[in-house]
Formats: sequence, structure tokens, C-alpha cells
Amino acid sequence: MTTYEPIIGLEIHAELMTNSKMFCGCKVVDSVEAEPNTAVCPVCLGMPGMLPVINKKAVEFAMRVALALNCDIQHHNIFARKNYFYPDLPKAYQISQYELPIGTQGWVDIQLESGEHKRIGIRRVHMEEDTGKLTHLEGNGSTNGYSLVDYNRSGVPLLEIVSEPDIHSGEEARAYGLKIRQILRYLGVNSGDMEKGVLRVEPNISLRPLGTIAFGKRTELKNLNSFKALADGSAYEIARQAEILDAGGEVIQETRGWHDAKRITFSQRSKEEAEDYRYFPEPDLPPLQISDEWIVAVGAALPELPDAKIARYQTDYGLSEYDARVLAEEKEVAAWFEEVVAHFSDAKVVANWILNNLFQLMNEHKQAIGEIRVTASGLAELLQLVAANTINNNTAKEVLAEMFVSGESAEAIVAAKGLAQISDETAVSAMITTILDQHSDQVAAYINGKEQLRGWFVGQVMRLSKGKANPALVNKILTEQIEQRRS
Ligand code: ADP
Ligand code: MG
Ligand code: ZN
Repeated sequence: MTTYEPIIGLEIHAELMTNSKMFCGCKVVDSVEAEPNTAVCPVCLGMPGMLPVINKKAVEFAMRVALALNCDIQHHNIFARKNYFYPDLPKAYQISQYELPIGTQGWVDIQLESGEHKRIGIRRVHMEEDTGKLTHLEGNGSTNGYSLVDYNRSGVPLLEIVSEPDIHSGEEARAYGLKIRQILRYLGVNSGDMEKGVLRVEPNISLRPLGTIAFGKRTELKNLNSFKALADGSAYEIARQAEILDAGGEVIQETRGWHDAKRITFSQRSKEEAEDYRYFPEPDLPPLQISDEWIVAVGAALPELPDAKIARYQTDYGLSEYDARVLAEEKEVAAWFEEVVAHFSDAKVVANWILNNLFQLMNEHKQAIGEIRVTASGLAELLQLVAANTINNNTAKEVLAEMFVSGESAEAIVAAKGLAQISDETAVSAMITTILDQHSDQVAAYINGKEQLRGWFVGQVMRLSKGKANPALVNKILTEQIEQRRS
């Protein structure tokens, strides 16, 4: 049997979160929440004689993405007409970019589960407009099926990001898709919400015998509504093509759908070629000239991107790559973490508390960082109480859980519940005397070498103090008192 090398290139469509549409003044509205066909006008409904006007903000957002993906920015941009008929496309053409896209020749680094890093080339980033949205309703024997069309989405700014065929597995495709989504979110240009269709990912997949150069025939997968579907759909397609090739057959170049419930791909239509679209320069729009000054200004205003943040967390804060990566996953979490560190400088301690305790509470309560009642300075105050030995770690975890629910400050909870740690030597010493007096048999056994009883004594003292005795002090005085009883 032949061993094949999978070749995958991704096309990602991302709607841009501008206020208004790409070529008209209509508002960009939520495609799920908004009443259908309420954000429309003659331009985005394709009425004859209407003229498009380019949305400057959309161009700026496209530049942000192209720069963040290390692309060269095209100074001379041409919009092109891509002609085809479909009910969700009222003009019967889509305004897109063809020969001169805004961004070319970029790259992005991805990280695989194994920890391995890979660089994936970006072939092009181009601007276009989204189509309307069709909803198909099925008939039930006595009634015919029918379709509904909502043009709210028609003309929403859309970016297409096309990778080089540098991806070689479903897992790599997923890692690449996640990285692009993370960057789009960092840039504030797209919410990454795949269920709402604002981000759509389509892999092109082919196989070639390992060690050969020529690409095989590819299929393109549509309707992937999650990154899991991207990984699983790609893996399914790789296996399906291998089976065909092994049997001496030929892969048909076509568009295939992904059936999420059955977890299989199925043929949708044979692949159209570029010439089928009769691309030509959009006569209603002038060429778009982008100046060097504008490119420099947009570049200078880019936020710190995930890879830079992860590197900084390792060098400045001494965090492990893994911890840095998890904290930098969402920029809101990263900003929150840094705000805690501004008030409590031991970044490793802060990182541990967020990763281990805060995230657990957020999971339990299904809350995102922007929704929680604990503030960054509130967590810092709690950590100061631990550092000052006012409370121990276990008590602090309970206090945090309480802060999470009530929004009270750490100090208020510690005071109201009398949780402050007992660090008074006389008080701790008295409790230890009580325990040792009550358990003279165990003391004798311990002195005779039954060392494991030590933890048990500590436990008894902690119980007597209701968990409030300062553990370091308990250990120190316990050693002293047992030494006295030895003689
Ligand atoms: P189209 O617009 O016709 O789909 P593109 O040339 O823009 O074609 O390529 C789309 C994507 O397909 C790109 O990400 C590219 O890397 C990828 N690609 C091209 N050829 C192959 C192939 N033989 N196997 C897998 N992916 C491919
Ligand atoms: Mg394609
Ligand atoms: Zn409009």
C-alpha cells in the first residue's frame, strides 16, 4: 500500500465587525438576533443604478489583519466583479478582489499539541462582501418546502484569508484555524463566533504519494461549523481519498459538504473554475490607493499579538510556555492577569491562582472573565492576605469562592467569618499541649519511631483550631514540644 502525504490549504472567511456595511451605510447587525431584512437599502439589495462606496473602516480592518499575518500590503487595490446567480446574491455578482488583493505573501506560526511549532504561509488576504442568508424549510408531504432569504448580511464586509498548502493533517488545520481566530479576536475585527457564521473555514484537501512533488486532485469542504468539525472532516477526507487511490481510482475535484451528525463528507457540486465567474474590474469603483503613511499608522496601532505576549510572559514573569499560552489565549484574560500583577508583583503566584482556582470557578459558574464579580485588585488583596500569613492557602481558596459568588472583598469576608489565621505563639502552643496531653499513647509511639504520626498530630491541631492555625507555626512548636517530651 502507498503511503500518502496529505496536502491542505485553508480558505477562511471572516466578517468584519464594522458599524456599517462594505459599500453602503446600512448597519451591520447580529444575523441571529436582528429581525430579517431590517438592515437593508437599495445598494445592498442590488437595485439597478445604485452605486457602491468603499467603507474606509473595513479597509483599515483588512489592513490590520494583513499586517498581523505578516503580509505585504498592496498599494494599488482593484475591486473585481465575481459573477454568478444565486438567490442570496441580489446583484448576481459579488464585489471582491481578484488579481490585486490587499495582502499577499504572509505567514503565521502555529503550535501543535505536541508542542511543535510550524510556520504556515498566507497566500492572500482579500476584501469582499458577504451574501444574504438563506433558510431552507422542508415540506412534509402535503406542503411544499420553501426558502426564506434575509438580506441583512448582504454587503457585510468580508475578508478572505487563503493559506498556502502548507498544512498536512486535520490537527494542523485545526491549530491554524484556531490561531487565525485568536488573532482576529485580538485585533477586535471579528468575534470568532462560528455558530453565528461570522467565521467560516473551508479546507482544500488532496493527497500525493509520499516523496513525490506534484499535487493530487483536491476536494474542498464546506459547512464546517466548528474547529472539531474542521479536524474531523479533514481526517475523514484524507482517509476517503486514500481508499480511492489505493483501489486505483481517481479523486474527483469537487466541493463536498460535512454532515455533522453522521460525521461524513458528501458530494455537493463539481468545482467551478475561476473563468466560470467572468471576473472583471468593478466599473463602479475606482482603484483604491493605500498610502505608506496609512500602512505605517495602522501597523503602529496594532495591539500586542499572542506570540509576542506569550514570549513576554516567559521572559518578564518567568512563566512556563504552557502557562503563558493559556493566560494569553484570550486577550481579556491576559489583560486581567496583568492588572492583578500590577497590584501583586509575584506573577507566578498570580498565574497559579488564575489557572488553578479562578478558571475552575469560572467553569463551574459558566462565566467569562468580563462577567465575574471578582476584580483584579480584589484578587491581589486576597493574595496579600496569604503573603502576610493572615490566612493560609486553603482558607484563601474558600474566600475566593465566596468572593466569586457575593462580590465581597477578601478582607470583609475574612473579618466577617473570623477566618484570620492564628499566628499567636501562645495560643498555638496551648492547642498543641492540649492535643499531646489527650493522646499520650500516640506521643509514646511517635517517640519510639512511628514517624508517620506527625501528620496526624498536625491534623488534630488544625481541627482544634478550625483550620485557622498558622501551619508553619504548628510545625515549629510541635517539634519543640515533642523534643521536650522525649527526655
Ligand atoms: P480556489 O479559489 O479555486 O479555491 P485557490 O488557488 O485560491 O483556489 O486555492 C484555494 C486553497 O486551496 C488555497 O488555500 C491553496 O493553498 C489550496 N490548494 C491549492 N491546491 C491544492 C491541492 N492540490 N491540495 C490541497 N490544497 C490546495
Ligand atoms: Mg476555493
Ligand atoms: Zn445597504
